[in-house]
Amino acid sequence: MLTLLLASRNAHKLREINELMPGMKLIPWPAEAPEIPEDGAFFQDNALQKATFARAWWKLCGTEAVAGVLADDSGLCVDALWGGPGVLSARFAKNLERDPKNRKLLAMIPAHAARTARFVCVLAFAPRTGEPFTVSGAVEGTLALEPCGTEGFGYDPIFIPQGFHQTFGELPAEVKHTFSHRGRAAAALLERLGVSSPRTEAARLDPH
Ligand code: IMP
Repeated sequence: MLTLLLASRNAHKLREINELMPGMKLIPWPAEAPEIPEDGAFFQDNALQKATFARAWWKLCGTEAVAGVLADDSGLCVDALWGGPGVLSARFAKNLERDPKNRKLLAMIPAHAARTARFVCVLAFAPRTGEPFTVSGAVEGTLALEPCGTEGFGYDPIFIPQGFHQTFGELPAEVKHTFSHRGRAAAALLERLGVSSPRTEAARLDPH
């Protein structure tokens, strides 16, 4: 089993990546470690920045040998908001709870604007030594009129993936994982690492 450091304290990402990559042991970013910087303009910049920062810190202070460091930069890109909140998804209305934050975002969409949006996920992998690389995944969809469902996290209750009538907040994790942005990125990463799993195989083959 490969042991990887996950450059994130986001418990939701940890849970999802654990479910998507069951053959890996993931060490979450320790509480005593510094904040990981993310000041890039693109998901890819941020994912690489997180993975390389975390690898450098772990080299000095890590408590366990790891095969590499994994970082996830992701977010919701809304066409009516010029692609926002995008890389700022975690920082948008940061002080609000999930439901008011989602309602605030929905209220920003002009009444007759297109409600199309996509979730994007870039995973960066920094091997213990050698060049880091990235893989990505995206899922197209539309914004619901109001938040629905309690599954998942973040913007899941307002995102209806293409081909469905329910939001990610209403769909079970098992279903979300088969074609989500993170599911697709994880499938690409496992393929690049030469590891296969039935779930990631399904995500790779899904026609959506
Ligand atoms: P970051 O990658 O740490 O900058 O933050 C990503 C943010 O995008 C999260 O805090 C969520 O608000 C949002 N996000 C990313 N992936 C998902 C998802 O699968 N469901 C819902 N929200 C997501």
